[in-house]
Amino acid sequence: MRSSIIPMPIIVDAHADIAYNMLKYGRNYTRSAAETRQLEVGSATVIHNEDSLLGWPDYQRGQVAVIFSTLFACPARWSTTENKSQVYKTFDEAHKLCREQLMVYHRMTDSAPDKFRLIASSRDLDLILDHWHSPTPAGNGHPVGMVVLMEGAECICTLSELNEWYELGVRLIGPAWVGTRYCGGWNEPGPLTKDGRNLLAAMSDHDFVLDLSHMDEQAAVEALDIYRGPIVGTHGNCLSLMPNSNSNRHFSDRIIEGIVERDGVVGVVPYNGYLKVGWTVGKNERAEVPLRYVADHIDHICQIAGDALHAGIGSDFDGGFGLQSVPPEIDTVADLQNLVSLLQARGYNEMDVDNIFSGNWLARLKRDLPK
Ligand SMILES: [Zn+2]
Repeated sequence: MRSSIIPMPIIVDAHADIAYNMLKYGRNYTRSAAETRQLEVGSATVIHNEDSLLGWPDYQRGQVAVIFSTLFACPARWSTTENKSQVYKTFDEAHKLCREQLMVYHRMTDSAPDKFRLIASSRDLDLILDHWHSPTPAGNGHPVGMVVLMEGAECICTLSELNEWYELGVRLIGPAWVGTRYCGGWNEPGPLTKDGRNLLAAMSDHDFVLDLSHMDEQAAVEALDIYRGPIVGTHGNCLSLMPNSNSNRHFSDRIIEGIVERDGVVGVVPYNGYLKVGWTVGKNERAEVPLRYVADHIDHICQIAGDALHAGIGSDFDGGFGLQSVPPEIDTVADLQNLVSLLQARGYNEMDVDNIFSGNWLARLKRDLPK
């Protein structure tokens, strides 16, 4: 039997806390993950955030052309480490931190446009994709495009700021991380608040994409009902494959159906704790969560949708976990390519795989970004 070999698809990774890691841990993502690990051996960073999975050389090897790069600050009540960088007590502090992170993206893309570039329009996206589809002299590589995603909207102090955030390049907003002044979230359930409803109304005026990740079910159901703009879930797995997980961090079938109905995409997270109920780093082995579990979640979304047009990847790598907490087939982000054969084995053809790896996110970006 002849096995068909699919050329490596381009990847869009819909979730990475790049600026947070740079400012909190001093990580430099022009380095490879291997270099970063070597520099961090024995450090507190590894204890708190594990070994890095990301770096520009790894993005090149894995053909990761676009990453949704977050603005994320942690509310003080959920900060468990001595390192208090990127932790806020007041909305003003959250605002300052996210603003600083946004400037980090502007500086890194201005200073190294051969490695990272901001994507704020569909034209920016086209330029990045053209680059990835053209041969470059050996070793030069391609610039990784960054779409800015605000995770947890407490850095928005007043709705009149939305215009400024948009002008500075923010294109997606997730109102929740844990619960926020806007809505119930991870570990802190609850509905949309009055402020949250006002935020959604103002967001749609500015054409922001709404990210339902981290929103509590109750808030997400209402948001699906009232939000007029585009809706996605950048990073979340399927609750029905995580029965009794006792976590509101996963998407129920109802929410996945809602996202599909709105022609959105759900990005699956290759984090062992979100793939096997009860899996805990230090207690469980990586081998207990093979990469095919990630394919299971992708497949579940495709089964709900009835096609392969609504599933994607939102790795969240380095977002509070690293090498120690991912399936054993993954050493760096480049190894997401190992999912190709797993999906093929389930009957996904070359176009399906291409859509899941990048085509679905790219179609939404082309639709939702300004010209
Ligand atoms: Zn998150």
